[in-house]
Amino acid sequence: MADDPHLRRRLRDIVGERGIVADEAEAAAYLTDWRRAFRGRAAAIVRPASTEEVAAVVKLCAGAGIPIVPQGGNTGMCGGAIADDSGRSVVIAMGRMNRIVDVDARNDAATVEAGCVLADLQAAAAREGRLFPLSLAAEGSCQIGGNVATNAGGISVLRYGNTRELTLGLEAVLPDGRVWNGLRSLRKDNAGYDLKQLFIGGEGTLGIVTQAVVKLHPAILERSTVLAAVATVDAAVALLGRLREHCGDTISAFELVSRRCLDLVLQHTPATRDPFAHASAWYVLAEVGDTRAGGDLRDRLEAGLLGAGENGIVTDAVIAESIAQREALWRLRETLPEAIRAEGLAFRSDIAVAVGRVPAFVEAAEGDLLREFPGIRIVCFGHLGDGNLHFNALPNRDAPLSSDWGRDVGRVLYDAVRGYDGSISAEHGIGQAKRAALLRCKSEIEIELMRKVKQMLDPDGLMNPGKLL
Ligand SMILES: Cc1cc2nc3c(=O)[nH]c(=O)nc-3n(C[C@H](O)[C@H](O)[C@H](O)COP(=O)(O)OP(=O)(O)OC[C@H]3O[C@@H](n4cnc5c(N)ncnc54)[C@H](O)[C@@H]3O)c2cc1C
Repeated sequence: MADDPHLRRRLRDIVGERGIVADEAEAAAYLTDWRRAFRGRAAAIVRPASTEEVAAVVKLCAGAGIPIVPQGGNTGMCGGAIADDSGRSVVIAMGRMNRIVDVDARNDAATVEAGCVLADLQAAAAREGRLFPLSLAAEGSCQIGGNVATNAGGISVLRYGNTRELTLGLEAVLPDGRVWNGLRSLRKDNAGYDLKQLFIGGEGTLGIVTQAVVKLHPAILERSTVLAAVATVDAAVALLGRLREHCGDTISAFELVSRRCLDLVLQHTPATRDPFAHASAWYVLAEVGDTRAGGDLRDRLEAGLLGAGENGIVTDAVIAESIAQREALWRLRETLPEAIRAEGLAFRSDIAVAVGRVPAFVEAAEGDLLREFPGIRIVCFGHLGDGNLHFNALPNRDAPLSSDWGRDVGRVLYDAVRGYDGSISAEHGIGQAKRAALLRCKSEIEIELMRKVKQMLDPDGLMNPGKLL
């Protein structure tokens, strides 16, 4: 960390001794991202314990022209929570603001501080017989504030929507240090512009989320989970249609996994095994859930699978018969990001195209990448039910690697995405990693409007500079 004793002293006056990260080794965890792709330096790292403390820190920084970097659980995939290497920024890490303020089962809503870990909120909702459906592999570390700031998606978007759909109200500290209290738990509110939407997916560039009111749903009492082998992505999309006919809106997850992905998990994740005797090019991990127990959901799932088998859509399938089996199937999907990380250098993306166009897109994008980068290893998986793929790639082991490899792969992939009217970021956001790509993919008018919003709320450009725009 850079050394500015005067600044440190003034920050300590606001957040106290416990609110300052002074130890260099501890600081390193706040200055490196999960992928280990970004490293930064900071003038200080503070851990405020209240909205008032966040506001006072922001006011101090705004007055002194010091850049601010909001940080949640630091599980983001695009370097959005990592300071630049100037050493001038103050990192505001939200982990001490982790209270669950209220779980209101009658209104199906919960109020939480931004530093609350997602899994803790899920557990608090479950204790009241409710479900907070946002679910992702990083749920044991990521925080609600980070989920809001990235408009996180995950595995249940198909049924429950993104964080945006799950957010009723917010409290945020603005770049000048004032506090905006929009902590409403209303289902309908058309009284003017919906200001919370600016902070949802704003990646900490417009203010710091300090509290949120989120929607809860009835608890799921019965689930069935299936891993199905399919020969093509087209068959996977056909299976989604079939299961929809049989299971309707009870489908909460519909995940695509390629054979290469499964191989990586089997290689790098302990205690995993291939549930099938024969390899398939693609797999679908799907889950259905019912709010009542003892219904016919399992029968309907089986009927859908049977029909899909008879039509050659599905070539093999296993349905979990126990919680342990369900967890084993999910382990094959959820440890995939870790397995890819174990391979070293990787290009990662989280693109989206319309669900019906996914098969053609996958074929086209794979063709384009293999033509430009012979031997590149495509590692494709994702939330097929939402048209959202992690279309990742590992370099050819036998070819020399240019320093711009990742950028060049991104250029080819994102051109293909544009050709299919897709998005270069379905859920992870832009951060530092995709800024140049955003400029290429959005129209002039979109970029101009975004810049005007940023300029209006943060005229000095101190709130998470160098991110998103
Ligand atoms: C194994 C793994 C699996 C993942 N799976 C998914 C997935 O399925 N779906 C998905 O959407 N994401 C996924 N992610 C990415 C990541 O978990 C999400 O983006 C998550 O929402 C980030 O939350 P965080 O608290 O870690 O935020 P951070 O990484 O700390 O920050 C992310 C961004 O939000 C800003 N920010 C953080 N807190 C605040 C705040 N209180 N106020 C304002 N801005 C703030 C930061 O400045 C930064 O720009 C995965 C990550 C990992 C490591």
